[in-house]
Amino acid sequence: MLSVAWFLLFIGVVLFVAYRRFTLLQTSITLTVLLLAYSLLGSAGVAWKMTLWLPVLALWLLNIHPLRQSFITRPFLRVYRRLLPSMSSTEKEALEAGTVWWDGQLFTGAPQWEQLMSSRAPRLTAEEQAFLDGPCEELCRMLDDFDITHWRGDMPPHVWDFLKSQGFFAMIIPKKYGGLQFSAYAHSCVLIKIASRSATAASTVAVPNSLGPAELLLHYGTEEQKNHYLPRLARGEEVPCFALTGPRAGSDAASLPDTGIVCKGMWQGREIVGLKLNFSKRYITLAPIATVVGLAFRLFDPDKLLGDKTDYGITCALIPRNTPGVTIGRRHFPLNVPFQNGPVSGRDVFVPLDVIIGGVKTAGQGWRMLVEQLSVGRCISLPSNATGGAKAATYASGAYSRIRRQFNMPVGRFEGVQEVMARMTGLTYIMDAARSVTAGAIDGGEKPSVPSAMLKYHLTEMGRIVANDAMDVHGGKGIQLGPKNYLARGYQVVPVAITVEGANLLTRNLIIFGQGAIRCHPFVLREMNAARDGNRERGVREFDQALFGHIGFTISNAARSLIMALTLARFTRVPDTGTTARYFQHVNRFSASFALAVDVAMLSLGGYLKKKENLSARLGDVLSSMYLASMVLKHHENQGQPEEDLPIVEWACRHLLYHAQEQLHSFLRNFPNRFLAAFMRLFIFPRGQTYFAPSDRLGRRVVELVTNPTQARERLCRGIYSTAEPSNPLGLLQEALTLAIAAEPIEKRIRVDGQKTGKVTALDLPGQITQSLALGIITETEAAMLRDYDRRVMDLINVDDFAPHELGAAAAPETTDEERPRGSAQVA
Ligand SMILES: Cc1cc2nc3c(=O)[nH]c(=O)nc-3n(C[C@H](O)[C@H](O)[C@H](O)COP(=O)(O)OP(=O)(O)OC[C@H]3O[C@@H](n4cnc5c(N)ncnc54)[C@H](O)[C@@H]3O)c2cc1C
Repeated sequence: MLSVAWFLLFIGVVLFVAYRRFTLLQTSITLTVLLLAYSLLGSAGVAWKMTLWLPVLALWLLNIHPLRQSFITRPFLRVYRRLLPSMSSTEKEALEAGTVWWDGQLFTGAPQWEQLMSSRAPRLTAEEQAFLDGPCEELCRMLDDFDITHWRGDMPPHVWDFLKSQGFFAMIIPKKYGGLQFSAYAHSCVLIKIASRSATAASTVAVPNSLGPAELLLHYGTEEQKNHYLPRLARGEEVPCFALTGPRAGSDAASLPDTGIVCKGMWQGREIVGLKLNFSKRYITLAPIATVVGLAFRLFDPDKLLGDKTDYGITCALIPRNTPGVTIGRRHFPLNVPFQNGPVSGRDVFVPLDVIIGGVKTAGQGWRMLVEQLSVGRCISLPSNATGGAKAATYASGAYSRIRRQFNMPVGRFEGVQEVMARMTGLTYIMDAARSVTAGAIDGGEKPSVPSAMLKYHLTEMGRIVANDAMDVHGGKGIQLGPKNYLARGYQVVPVAITVEGANLLTRNLIIFGQGAIRCHPFVLREMNAARDGNRERGVREFDQALFGHIGFTISNAARSLIMALTLARFTRVPDTGTTARYFQHVNRFSASFALAVDVAMLSLGGYLKKKENLSARLGDVLSSMYLASMVLKHHENQGQPEEDLPIVEWACRHLLYHAQEQLHSFLRNFPNRFLAAFMRLFIFPRGQTYFAPSDRLGRRVVELVTNPTQARERLCRGIYSTAEPSNPLGLLQEALTLAIAAEPIEKRIRVDGQKTGKVTALDLPGQITQSLALGIITETEAAMLRDYDRRVMDLINVDDFAPHELGAAAAPETTDEERPRGSAQVA
């Protein structure tokens, strides 16, 4: 038998070899040397030693490729091919859309941090900065959100003109067509600023710059289409919308029932081959005022006028608004945030074939186009709008919780409020980090499809939490609508961001991990492609490489997960970033555990994993938590590692990595095969759940940073519209916060020398100021300062009230009682 020392040596060498990812040959040599040493020096009998040689011999046989291909790879491949679901070329193209970036590293179990840390920090050019400081600042000054959301139900004409003339709708259009040609980062910064001021304006600006006609034309349009539309879109002469969703096809957009039939018809007085379109779309942003409708429909050619095929599949086209048969103009009413949104339909709309984006040659490629372009747009629009809203809410709440006093204290000093404020701050930091670092990657040439889904889902969900928290911190002030309410529309718009561009439940449960598992896994897509290879022999060779690579990868991840869980990842190599290095190490640990869990789940559940949405969603959460934590670490680095921000960075990383741990734990608890679950637990949590969420103490340090006028507060909320001017509550709150700090020692003197001694008896601050001044407790200058402070605070705390006739639908005079839409209960 093996002595304890030899046993430990064997285990140690096996774990070392697996941890360091030795190749099969290196492993065979290492184990042979070890076994030789044991054979010569070990005290066991010959029979036992011979037994130990058997697995090592088997390992050597696996090095003979033709042998293992015949006896292992080919039989396995036959079964694999039978299990592999069939995939259309459209599905395949969609799956392969975009690039794999840092998300791919997190799937490896051993992320190469140099790839992330060496990427360039995003920067604005002088021109982009000038746009933010000029037209964007000017726009924010022009926006009166209550006027837009309550009185008008739209932005005023001069704002529309300004948006069009200044190029707000042309950020992604190249300069040669008259657009601004901004970087992804600049685009994101513009949206952040506008979103901090008005959700209506931000939604309006986001759409033409996101997935829509301009983006599709740029990548797939014919030269003629580009030259016609792009300059007109850039100048704002054309307003675009993109219509994919309909009453019957929402989340499952690819099942749309809208059709385009290739047929002959009359166009401008002569007979041509064209398309007859029938469609019914809803929820389409900008549709009520759009001049050109991007349309997705299924193209059929029953008479084979274009070629051999009859069913081409999803196709995208651009239809001018005034085309006969198009019905457009009515508006939906999206949660009191009245950006232009409405239905559009068409009946027997006959158009020439050149309305197809890219012309006839791209007929049927619409789904690929949409999925490909979504990988960029989805990273920017909604994540930036959510981040802008969160920054504004945190900035406002930090100041408000300092100036609003209850029980003789700023409410921000109560632990209950601090818990909420810490969460708002930490989440806002995560959001800002993720959107800016990912935008930087896009500017570096990436089209990260899986991160785009992660950002879309997590940043809008975090936005929802921050908006909710801000409402709690503000109490009734957040609830009473009116010009003085700077929170409520941001709160109301949250479900819009949650729903659009892939509703969040679907994105979390189906897309993040579903797409990630295939796209980012180092071997799965290789195996699938090899199995589908028409050249069978080449397929076997490639499958063999991928399969054995995959087996070694899984064994290595099991070893890495176990070792890092036992050692709390203390000895894993990471960038030398000082205090934050431990978080890099924890990401390494969770990456290995995650990679192991992914392989066991895919191997044991196969295609069924797609149906087990709860498991898939939890794995997606682990992946996203690691991704977001990496973004936080890189963002901190990009900002020059300011020490002041460390509590926020620590809060953010702890929050995310704790979530990763808990989601891994829930995954194991719910894994259907209990034996495999126990096996995985042994490698993932050999010491149990050892990672802790942020402490209350850390939370309090974080709150100190945002309830004081610190640099950290400014860095966190950088880019919002915070200019101090009478109509901007964010600017006014910041001024009040600065005064609050100066007022604090004076207020304390009034309390200690005046109220506690019974000399100052007035119940409100103005009375207390007068009495304290008379008693010589405070000076004339101090009294003036306190009065100014109190006036500003009351101005910010006050809410609006209205005459009864000012509220209600009766304010819309041109609509008669009969014309007003009613709920079904009333109709009945
Ligand atoms: C304000 C607004 C603006 C919009 N703008 C546009 C636009 O400009 N152009 C356009 O084409 N579309 C637009 N949309 C449509 C938007 O993309 C859809 O609303 C969205 O795709 C969801 O479709 P649905 O609302 O029909 O929800 P449904 O598909 O009915 O889904 C209902 C719920 O079920 C969940 N769900 C569905 N399938 C799954 C699954 N497999 N697993 C888990 N959960 C699932 C969804 O996540 C959702 O929560 C807009 C929508 C809104 C509200």
